[in-house]
Amino acid sequence: MSPAPAAARTRAVALALALALALAAAAAAGCRGPQSAPPSDKLPSWERPDALFLAPEPCDALVIEVDSTVDAPPSDAALDALRSFFAAYCEKPAGISIVRDESIPAESVRGLTPERIALRHMSLAPDPRDRATAYVYVLYYRSDDGRNPHVNWHYPGAIFADITYFRRVASEIPGFAVEDVEAPLLVHEAGHVLGLTRDESHGDGSHCSNRRCVMYAVLEVSLEGLSRGERLPEAPCDRCRADIAAARSRRPDARLGFVGPVFVRREPRYTLLRLPGLLMVALGDEAAIPAEIRGRALAARAEIYPAEAQYLYLYWRPPEAAAESLAGPLGDALRDPDAAARHAAAILLRDLASAGPLGPRLDALRRLALDDVDPGVRSIAESIPESAAPPDTAGGATGRSP
Ligand SMILES: [Zn+2]
Ligand SMILES: [Zn+2]
Repeated sequence: MSPAPAAARTRAVALALALALALAAAAAAGCRGPQSAPPSDKLPSWERPDALFLAPEPCDALVIEVDSTVDAPPSDAALDALRSFFAAYCEKPAGISIVRDESIPAESVRGLTPERIALRHMSLAPDPRDRATAYVYVLYYRSDDGRNPHVNWHYPGAIFADITYFRRVASEIPGFAVEDVEAPLLVHEAGHVLGLTRDESHGDGSHCSNRRCVMYAVLEVSLEGLSRGERLPEAPCDRCRADIAAARSRRPDARLGFVGPVFVRREPRYTLLRLPGLLMVALGDEAAIPAEIRGRALAARAEIYPAEAQYLYLYWRPPEAAAESLAGPLGDALRDPDAAARHAAAILLRDLASAGPLGPRLDALRRLALDDVDPGVRSIAESIPESAAPPDTAGGATGRSP
């Protein structure tokens, strides 16, 4: 994506190109995951959690928790830029606050994915009964190889910032301090949290087409610009600002909300619960979901699964219900528009099958999953043996993908 200078004939231009490439390597892949998203011009309202951060209702306040490992402290300048960015665009009459947690001992999280560190340490979220406060989580950590800053696609409000990456990029730009790189990249990720550039009218659905916009895929500055004291772009362009204004005026989808740190979508017969690197489909009424998987307890639950698991697909079902009686809500979940939700539902179906032969209604769901457009869902369905036997009774109450 890095546009090269038209003629790289002089040393200065060649240097500028090298610089642009260095920055491109750093900033271009700052975001993972848009490949699983539907075309952005047709984004349904459930795909627009950004409205929870932007609009004054139902969340009239915003809490931004910033965690860092001892060896990856954020700069005050970058956090000020982050605070200013959210304050400029989020309409929160009850206030926007950045809360800093105690530094995380580096040794205690060595070898963990940033998502797993988040699950362990996102501790300053609002009380689960407080449905009026939106929550954003920022984690600063230090890797050996320097990973691109990124947002978590399935969980709308988590930003991951690797200090190794910021330091490396800053060291490659003459006269740049770490915060000169850190602040614009942090603001860029915050722009994703606010849903920017998912409109393809001036971008590719994940980044803006304006090279001087903070939401451009590759933040860059030429040598010539550097000599004039230019910095990386830190502000959204006019069109991105207009997108934010339009998003803020939309009423958020009433099914979406936060329960503590957990991002929730409530459907009539099932509920989707999300955290960084984790999705749970819970069958039945939300009120029936037990305390041990509510709010922060759901994050703690991840500890029972291997730390190297990239993504946890979990489910919860009413434990006393007979398997065949779950066919209604499970069928709804297997028709969810989000492939990750269907993936978790298919795992539940597979586990029901492993506990005993599927009854006719559940077997119909197996055939439904066999026709899923998502290859991951199909492959789970293919591992379930065909069955026309009578329904069994309850098996295990919760489970996860292998
Ligand atoms: Zn990005
Ligand atoms: Zn823009």
